[in-house]
Amino acid sequence: MTIPAPAVIDALRAALDDRAVLIGDDAAGFLIDGRNLPTADDAVVVRPADVEGVAAVVAICAEHDVAIVPQGGNTGLSHGTESPTDRPSIVLTTARLNTIESIDPDRWTITAQAGVSIEAVQEAARSVNRVFAPDWGARGTATVGGAIATDAGGINVLRYGNMRENVMGIQAVLADGSIWDGRRALVKDSSGYDLKQLFIGAEGTLGVVTSAVLKLRPATPHESTMLAAITGLDALAPLLELAHTHAPGSVTAFELLPQVAIDRVVSITDAVRPLDAGTEYSVLVKLASSAPVDDQVADFLAAGAAAGFVVDAVVAGTPDQTENLWSLRDHAPPTFCYLEHQHLGLKLDTAVPVDRIETFIRSVLDAAAEIAPMALAYAFGHVGDGNLHMMILPTTDEDVPPWMEVRQAMSDEVDRLVFGLEGTLSAEHGVGLLLRDRVGPQKSDLEWELMRSVKRALDPDDRFNPGKMIPGT
Ligand SMILES: Cc1cc2nc3c(=O)[nH]c(=O)nc-3n(C[C@H](O)[C@H](O)[C@H](O)COP(=O)(O)OP(=O)(O)OC[C@H]3O[C@@H](n4cnc5c(N)ncnc54)[C@H](O)[C@@H]3O)c2cc1C
Repeated sequence: MTIPAPAVIDALRAALDDRAVLIGDDAAGFLIDGRNLPTADDAVVVRPADVEGVAAVVAICAEHDVAIVPQGGNTGLSHGTESPTDRPSIVLTTARLNTIESIDPDRWTITAQAGVSIEAVQEAARSVNRVFAPDWGARGTATVGGAIATDAGGINVLRYGNMRENVMGIQAVLADGSIWDGRRALVKDSSGYDLKQLFIGAEGTLGVVTSAVLKLRPATPHESTMLAAITGLDALAPLLELAHTHAPGSVTAFELLPQVAIDRVVSITDAVRPLDAGTEYSVLVKLASSAPVDDQVADFLAAGAAAGFVVDAVVAGTPDQTENLWSLRDHAPPTFCYLEHQHLGLKLDTAVPVDRIETFIRSVLDAAAEIAPMALAYAFGHVGDGNLHMMILPTTDEDVPPWMEVRQAMSDEVDRLVFGLEGTLSAEHGVGLLLRDRVGPQKSDLEWELMRSVKRALDPDDRFNPGKMIPGT
């Protein structure tokens, strides 16, 4: 039984405005994640319009022992927004906390409510000649609160870091319904524990983030995106080194794109094939600076070709061409490419130390060829910071039964490889339920117990997102 008792629903209705409590068909749209998978069969969805409303909801849930599943744009895809099946719960969506509260170019900050989309923050930053750096394919749907809760990053992490490096302060509602306002805009603050960092990456297990002070960066009016077809995976590390050497301070994105994904995206979207070099892999590189980068682009590509790593390259010359190149990257995930079978596959959002990227990709591809020859395996993503997406999935109906027979063996082998290379199973999207029972060996028992202690201290009744993220909860 997961729907709270009628008395709870009545209390929520009495405390909030009449648009705030959704049940049945009205709630259904909030119970499907970004992969079209249900997050609950049925649930009460509550959408307060302000932080006081969130506090009232939490207080009512505390009084009636109802669990709370915070929800943003539902793009996390790690089953982090699934409702528990063993106790009454509500879904608390930040959909109406969608105001940019202030833009402060002189402080280099934006303060935004948790439900504001990443794209809206980026646009607001641009309007004052600043940059909000975190950026990824789900920018239009992913929210500030969800990005904080999963410590999201994206294509610019290489230069600007994850959300951890882009959040200066947060406001959150705590387990007893109190509002903690830690929205400071201090670049330096040595006055004790940095409590906001506990909430970043906590996946909604410690409280509801309601607003945040986000860091802005100088505008980079001179930007250039290029796609370079490369000789192979062994070219990745030396090419990144060459990019840093020939464009110091300008390397903003360095993404791996396999030809198999480019071919697929071109065949199912309007994207145009930019190169036909016949190589298995390309890198998508963005240089950005306050000064022109044309010479840096030319020097980098010439050095890459002279070293024998770059076979051919195209540099976007117009905004449309730039968009076309990024469209290839944005649509490379199987959620676009292989929608029909993607939920059956293994989707890795892993990271390994940057010097082990090549070893990791080769090891996983070799293991897939041996264990799961019927599956398509490919790697793409943020190689510049060690964060790699790999997909191993069936692409036809006939491949599904044999794949399901070896899926577990392949999953076990991936875990062995990730842990052996001192990597992480979750470098983005969070742990949720998807990885909770796999991440254990990644950290010591002591480290997990420390996390449980933090959880007990801030959420003694296990009110927030119970059962998520921490093994054994
Ligand atoms: C196509 C695509 C590409 C992506 N690419 C990247 C990428 O390159 N890099 C990357 O890092 N991620 C990427 N993601 C993952 C995803 O966008 C992020 O994890 C995202 O930030 C989650 O935000 P959301 O608003 O959708 O959160 P949701 O999915 O709604 O929630 C995610 C988690 O956060 C919790 N939560 C949500 N809001 C709050 C809140 N206000 N307070 C407390 N907890 C909360 C939820 O309970 C859940 O545990 C991608 C996703 C998609 C679909």
